[in-house]
Amino acid sequence: MKLANGAEYIESLRRLSPKIYYKGKRIKDVTRHPATAPHVRSAAMTYALANKEKYKDLATAASHLTGRTISRFTHVHQNIGDLIGKIKLLRLLGQKTGTCFQRCVGLDGINAVYSVAYEIDQKHGTGYLERFKAWLIHIQDENRMVVGAMTDPKGDRSKSPADQPDPDQYVHVVERRKDGVVIRGAKLHMTGAVNSHDILVMPTTALDERSKNYAIVCAMPIDTPGVTLIFGRQAGDDRRDHRERIDVGKPRFGVVGGEAVIAFEDVFVPNERIFMNGETDHTGTLVYRFAAHHRANYGACKTGLMDVLTGAVSYLAQIQGTAQGSHIKDKVTEMIHLSETLYSSSIACSAEGNPTPSGAYLVDTMLANVCKQNVTRFHFEVARLATDIAGGFLATMPSEYDLKSEDVGHLVKKYFVGVSTIPVEDRIKIGRLIEALTGGTAMVESMHGAGSPQAQRIMIFREGKLGEKIRLAKKLAGIPQ
Ligand code: SF4
Ligand code: FE
Repeated sequence: MKLANGAEYIESLRRLSPKIYYKGKRIKDVTRHPATAPHVRSAAMTYALANKEKYKDLATAASHLTGRTISRFTHVHQNIGDLIGKIKLLRLLGQKTGTCFQRCVGLDGINAVYSVAYEIDQKHGTGYLERFKAWLIHIQDENRMVVGAMTDPKGDRSKSPADQPDPDQYVHVVERRKDGVVIRGAKLHMTGAVNSHDILVMPTTALDERSKNYAIVCAMPIDTPGVTLIFGRQAGDDRRDHRERIDVGKPRFGVVGGEAVIAFEDVFVPNERIFMNGETDHTGTLVYRFAAHHRANYGACKTGLMDVLTGAVSYLAQIQGTAQGSHIKDKVTEMIHLSETLYSSSIACSAEGNPTPSGAYLVDTMLANVCKQNVTRFHFEVARLATDIAGGFLATMPSEYDLKSEDVGHLVKKYFVGVSTIPVEDRIKIGRLIEALTGGTAMVESMHGAGSPQAQRIMIFREGKLGEKIRLAKKLAGIPQ
């Protein structure tokens, strides 16, 4: 792995020149800009762990293509152990960063495209898998971070891509050349995009025959001409601008993944970086596999965050002198119970995984959907309990400036004290951490990341095998089949 640790990853980003905008201005260096630097540090943790003796086994894998040691974030899952290893790694990273470390979208894209490229080649006699392998070896050996780019803007949702008044609402091919294609469109909500090295473009939905130009899978470096990124706003991001260390809550790492719009304004992609081109019959499978992998993740990375939140409120209860209250213990117990339940479904869908025809392993898709659906409830319940335990001061805390003010600092210290042995600053720091972990942007991600709740409900119903269940019931009731 060329990029062997977090510092080398950060340094590698400085050698790129992507076109990134935030609040109307261009960001020159994502590693130093206050809006993006926390996300860079969070992603850097995926590199750092691979370099630590204690975590090496979890954070790395042997490439099935080269046999060389690679980051697990660039690995094609070869067995159940790989699927479970990923889940354990994600929880660990969630605990260490308290936020999204972004690199899983590329990993899930790699796994989905690998298995589907194999199946397209089998059916259509194309040569996508060999091309994809060549690209993937480059990603693995260099240890590059990939943003898996799936979600299109979608314009008028009642219309299919081919029927949109503006054809650019879905990424599509606008020109075919002998040596490649030119694409136009955009991808929204792209986690970790501004601090990735490469983009892996995939269609966002199952496409019909009329939408051949939209059935495009391809890769390109982030600073390819014609690619523009617009970094999103997050709750409290002005606090970072002013370097309010305590008030940010997690001074080192971001609130969520750091999402961006990626616009493709007539971007040329050479043939060797195209892994699907018009095979609409495989788009549904690709989207579904990507979604299943990503939905499995949420019971792990978010559990890591819930571990931090549970620790934060437990410490706050100690500071406030309420830790021994039976109702506090009961609520903390419920938080732990919900977190572990969530984690169980991540482990379960991995343990029940199966090989695809390519040999790459896929999680159990039903259980992965159940896992993500649980996140949209349990994480909110855990956040509700944390807010309940913490108390109203979460919403009314004075700022760091007041805490440190010569004029009023003594008042903040006097009236925000808890048990006398723990400094007031700890109480405010932990309060801000809880605020960051339960606040708007972080929770929206749990609701809509990896697909909104309704997307999972559709799949759960579709895969529910109701016919079989009806047969079971009729048999036991003595009703002829
Ligand atoms: Fe990974 Fe979780 Fe972030 Fe998705 S939300 S990229 S699974 S850390
Ligand atoms: Fe996400």
